[in-house]
Parts: sequence; structure tokens; C-alpha cells
Amino acid sequence: PVRVRFAPSPTGPLHIGGVRTALYNYLFARKMGGKMLLRIEDTDQNRFVPGAEDYIIEALKWVGIQIDEGQSVGGPDAPYRQSERKEIYQKEAFRLVDEGKAYYAFDTPEELDAMRQRLEEANAPAAQYNAITRLQMKNSLTLPAADVKARIDAGDPYVIRLKTPRKEEVRLNDLIRGWVNVHSSAIDDKVLLKSDGLPTYHLANVVDDHLMGITHVIRGEEWLPSAPLHVLLYRYLGWESTMPQFAHLPLLLKPEGNGKLSKRDADLGGFPVFPLEWTDPFTGTVARGFREDGYLPQALVNFLAFLGWNPGTEQELFTMDELIEAFSIENIHKGGARFDVEKAKWFNHQYIRQQTDASLAPVVQQAAEGAGFPCTLEKATKITALLKERVNFAHEIFPEARTIFYSPDSYDEAVRAAKWNADAQGAATAFRDALNTYEGEFMADAIKHLLAETLQQAGIKQGKVMQAMRLALTGTGAGPDLMLTMEIIGREETLIRLNRALE
Ligand code: GLU
Repeated sequence: PVRVRFAPSPTGPLHIGGVRTALYNYLFARKMGGKMLLRIEDTDQNRFVPGAEDYIIEALKWVGIQIDEGQSVGGPDAPYRQSERKEIYQKEAFRLVDEGKAYYAFDTPEELDAMRQRLEEANAPAAQYNAITRLQMKNSLTLPAADVKARIDAGDPYVIRLKTPRKEEVRLNDLIRGWVNVHSSAIDDKVLLKSDGLPTYHLANVVDDHLMGITHVIRGEEWLPSAPLHVLLYRYLGWESTMPQFAHLPLLLKPEGNGKLSKRDADLGGFPVFPLEWTDPFTGTVARGFREDGYLPQALVNFLAFLGWNPGTEQELFTMDELIEAFSIENIHKGGARFDVEKAKWFNHQYIRQQTDASLAPVVQQAAEGAGFPCTLEKATKITALLKERVNFAHEIFPEARTIFYSPDSYDEAVRAAKWNADAQGAATAFRDALNTYEGEFMADAIKHLLAETLQQAGIKQGKVMQAMRLALTGTGAGPDLMLTMEIIGREETLIRLNRALE
């Protein structure tokens, strides 16, 4: 059975690229009838940021990604927070040392710096602590065994490094990128266990993926360079036959395509890169989130799904269930995906218009009252019905409703010159008179009927005066349904506006 994991490090707010990674894992897990795990990779204590873990969990919830096992829900492989699994990694690190596949290293930061400097001066290739340079350093491969033991017993700080082979081919068949071949000379002797007893990302990640039975590692392309090292680790740990398959997702690019989208782009051309608003616990700086900006989670999901994948059909709007149905790793692109602001808005527009009026109405009511206009929920609901097709965000409905809350204090001059003729004025007068004695319900359908009847009796062609009627009632020549507009502003206000236009 398929088991995938989302394994964020709580080093700050979840970036939108992280949400996409989580989403693709989730879609794949659901599609394959498998499980989705959430593992918190918090072994780098220098980069730990308070609140980040809760943020991640809340963000996934908001987006609609359900975790089957892991941090926040529990499961058979608990704990799912790496800082609580120290002994597990230590055991594997010491096993590798015992088996001659890793070794202790005692070098001080100064000694490491000196080595780096020597390499730089010699213009040496990138790999630093490796099969060749390790011979000049202080480690259990160069020091006498008695020395090593004495140092450890004395509590000298040490790290455990992988004994990367000097000449070996490392290959992996990435499900998206195809074969990746790396020569082991390009991989240095990575630290597996740090002097604080905590594992590095590489060791913890591989050990946990193995112990948690992960079948597919789906993650961002920035991890591709680490993948050969991970393959080597699986080999050395004796787990190569059950090694997960890898799928490295394409990069997310800035809107202009000029480089990689990063957490530092916290406000990209008026666009958030975090799912939820984030307050930096150290500086108090607030970074905007999609949620607070008025995006609906379904719209964000739909937008993100298309950043690096497409269904191979023309269909663009997908519910989560439809995405699950359509998703496949084969349809993930290799090339980077440009973060297109307008596309995100377009998706939101599509989902806003699908929402019920009642669900959006509170946003409108709040905005109206905030601006000093009393507004019942009923009125807000009608306004929503009138305008939701015209906006990208619920919070844009109230500003769009200007002509409902404000009697016109001026009239569009061009429309007035072209349309406010004798017929138009006759129509407005007749309709006003009809309204004055009208006792029926003031609802759009009834109003429409009354207007049609009145104009017919007055012998005026409705098509010729409608724009002028709109001008009289709203001050403008175009806008949403006029009958519904009258219903919302009410009989009294309709009369006031007609009278003013006729003054
Ligand atoms: N902790 C890593 C991250 O923050 C996980 C990478 C992986 O999925 O292997 O992205």
C-alpha cells in the first residue's frame, strides 16, 4: 500500500511551495488508496521557530488536506516529531560506525575552516570532507583506536560522518526526472549525527522514511541534489531493497519567471506566498496569507494543483475529489511553474460565484456596517446575489455596491447627453407616478412587471429608455440587474432617486 509523507521543518511559516508538495502527496495517497503522513523535521535546533508547527497543521487543515497518520493525529509510528526520536537515529548511526560505514570525527570548527581554506587555495572541487581529505583530519579512521576511545570517554565533542566511498556510481530513477547518475566522489562525508546528539536532516529523513514504511518520497526539486546521498544511506543501512521511489517536483518560479519563488518573497507584487497570515515571533512582522486575502481554500487548491501538473484535458475547475481522480505522477512537469497572480484570482472568481449568497453575505454586512451603513443580513444576501459574479473576492462586493448605498450625487455626463431625452423623462415620470400608488410587494419580478406595464400604457419603448432609467437611479450607464437593484434600495429610496433625477 502506498504511504507518503509531508515532512516540513518548522523553521517558519509554511511557504506556498510547501503546500503544493503536501497537496501532491495527498492527491497521490488518496488516488492510490494509500496513507498520508505528517512528520515534523525539527532536528535543527538553531532554526526552530516557535509557532511554526501549529501554523503548518492549521494551514493544512484550512486547505483541506487530511492527515491519516502523524503529528496532530497520532498513529502506529509515533512519535512523529523528530526531536522526540533521538535514540532511534543514534542507534542507526552507531550501527553504521560498527559496520565500518561511518566514523567519528573530532575536528574543531577551526580545523574544518583551515581545511576549507587549504582546498580553496588549491582550487579543489566541491566535495570537502571526503575519501581523500579525511586522511588529514582527526577522526576514527586516522587516530589510533585507543585515542578515539579516550576522547569519547572524556566527553570530547564528536560528530558521526558517513564514510562515502571514493569511486562508486550512485543511481536513482526519479519518477519525474528519470535517471539521475552521480559519482560518489561528488558526495562528501556528510555529518549524520551532530555533536549535540541530534541527527542531521539526511539521517533522520532516511531512517524515518524506512521505519514509517514510506513508499514514495514526493518533494521539491531543491532536494534532488541530496537524493544520491540518501540512496547511499539506504544502501549502507541495508534497506536498499525497500527504498522508496522518488519524485522531485518542479520549482515554483516568480511571477515573471525570473528565478525561484522563495519565502523571502513574502509579498510578491501584491500577492501572498503563505497560506495563512504569519506573525514573525521574533520581529512581530506580519506577512499576508491567502486566507486573509480572501482566497477560498478550494480556489487555492485548484490553483496549486496546476502549478506543475495538468490533467491532459481542457478542464480547469476541479474539486478536491476530481483532482484525486485525475491526478497522476506521469502528468507532473519537469520544468519550473510560473506563479501567475492573475490565474489565482481567476480561480477565486470561479469559486466565489459558486458560493451560496448566504455564505458570503456576512462579509458584505460587516463591510457595510464598518462603513457606517446599517445593513441587515437579508439585504447583504441580496447584494451578494446581485454582485458576486462581478468580483474575485467576497470583500470586493461591498465596494462594488456603491450605487446601492449612495444616492447618486452626479450623473454620467456622456450617458446623460445621449439618453436623458423626452422619452426617458416621460418614462421616469410615469414610473414614479405608478410607484406612488403601487401597493404590491416591492420585489424584482413585480417591479419589472410594473415598469413594463407602465411604459406600455405610456406608449414608450422600454428598450430605448432603460439606460436612462439606470442613469436616473444609479448615476451610471451600466451595472448589475436594475430590478434587483431597486428591490434592494427599496421603494422609498427608488422614489427619492427618481424625483431627484426629474428635478
Ligand atoms: N524537512 C524537509 C523540508 O523541510 C523535508 C524534505 C523531504 O521531504 O525529504 O522540506
